[in-house]
Amino acid sequence: MKKKITIAIDGFSSTGKSTIAKQLAQKLGYIYVDTGAMYRAVTLFAMNQNLITATEFDIAGLEKELSRISLSFTFNSNFGFAEMYLNGVNVEKEIRTLEVSQLVSKVAAVSSVRKKLVLEQQAMGKNKGIVMDGRDIGTVVFPDAELKIFMVASANTRAQRRYKELIAKGDTVSYEEILQNVVERDHLDSTRKDSPLVRAEDAIEIDNSDLGFKEQFDKIYALVESLSSLN
Ligand code: C5P
Repeated sequence: MKKKITIAIDGFSSTGKSTIAKQLAQKLGYIYVDTGAMYRAVTLFAMNQNLITATEFDIAGLEKELSRISLSFTFNSNFGFAEMYLNGVNVEKEIRTLEVSQLVSKVAAVSSVRKKLVLEQQAMGKNKGIVMDGRDIGTVVFPDAELKIFMVASANTRAQRRYKELIAKGDTVSYEEILQNVVERDHLDSTRKDSPLVRAEDAIEIDNSDLGFKEQFDKIYALVESLSSLN
């Protein structure tokens, strides 16, 4: 008999958090929540309402609209993970563009946005048995999570990964603009006032610059096994 635990996976962008988190949830029969997708969906909403552009951001306007933003995840059995819905519309593809990536950290720095999303995330995890990835999961959303992982990798390694992903999807992007986005987001996410990206004191750091997927997965899975055995 195993007890269900809460697993928080935080770290810089494109450290492979979601790949690990998804597989872990699948193997454990846990719920997986990609909190970055939620901040991305709010950003897409703001873009669609002309509340944010590369040069301007109407924060008060977005705050007024927050109660009209409904976010949900629906499991897609073809892909084996839940997709992001914004006001009932599947936005999984639209939220992954470079344009959204370039604006999301500004939206994620707004306290009222964070407050709304953190409450929703805490509700999703109230029964444990959840793997959640993001930037503030181990520090703010679930400070009592039984297992906290903090993933890091060099900016070049991460930009390479992201570049390959976007090119494979058919996007026209340059490696330089991806690297710039990764570095800029790291900076904005780690220096914002509300819930900056920091490693929780009790998080286990994994640097995967030179670590294969299986090695990382096995390491984390062994930790889960030891924490979820009841005796
Ligand atoms: O994880 P992903 O790269 O999709 O996250 C996109 C952005 O959302 C991050 O760069 C960060 O600004 C924001 N985010 C956050 N807190 C989280 C998850 C994501 O601020 N828990």
